[in-house]
Amino acid sequence: MEHKAYLQSLLPESTDQIKQLEAYASEHHVPIMEPEGIQFLMQLIRMQRPSAILEIGTAIGYSALRMLEASPDSEIVTIERDEERYRQAVQNIEAFEADDRIQLLYGDALDLKHEVEEQAPYDLLFIDAAKGKYEEFFQIYSPLLSENGVIISDNVLFKGYVADDSQATKRMAKIAKKIRGYNDWLVSHPDFHTVIVPIGDGIAITTKK
Ligand code: SAH
Ligand code: MG
Repeated sequence: MEHKAYLQSLLPESTDQIKQLEAYASEHHVPIMEPEGIQFLMQLIRMQRPSAILEIGTAIGYSALRMLEASPDSEIVTIERDEERYRQAVQNIEAFEADDRIQLLYGDALDLKHEVEEQAPYDLLFIDAAKGKYEEFFQIYSPLLSENGVIISDNVLFKGYVADDSQATKRMAKIAKKIRGYNDWLVSHPDFHTVIVPIGDGIAITTKK
């Protein structure tokens, strides 16, 4: 068995309620985290026990709900700019009775620093929104981190196209190029340590020096 299939065979089974979200995402092409990626993120969160988490890119609330599952005492602020997805997220978070822990903000994360600042500092910043804007999200929100704060960036290998875009469409190659630029900037940042883990769609883990 190829190692990816082997590791997949070891993944824990989701609850029915979580499976429903995964099915909705698959049916409506919502790019939620992949099973290995979400398990990895949940394990990092169990290790770090962040009091406050900031997520850029809620989609339908899947990753926010899984992060809360991993750390039920955390407070999560999460931002989504797409109205339909925001509405779905509101419904899902209510259905999971998580509205006391997860605060949803509707709007463009590039414009919401003032509102997000109110709950600062954050122990974890999870960046999972527009792939061309990661550096901007990082610049705006990393100053709101606590001393031991961590930044996690999703999709940094983007379907393998960041390493090799020879099979990518023009549109995909353009996105991959932007992510490549972000990765280069991030790994050479003088103030942070970054390791990129090839799990899920590629996850960068960044800590302060
Ligand atoms: N974190 C989610 C998936 C997020 S998909 C999960 O794993 O379950 C990325 C989402 O980011 C999309 O729903 C998109 O609408 C949103 N997004 C993209 N750019 C954004 C921005 N500038 N501000 C807020 N949301 C943004
Ligand atoms: Mg993602």
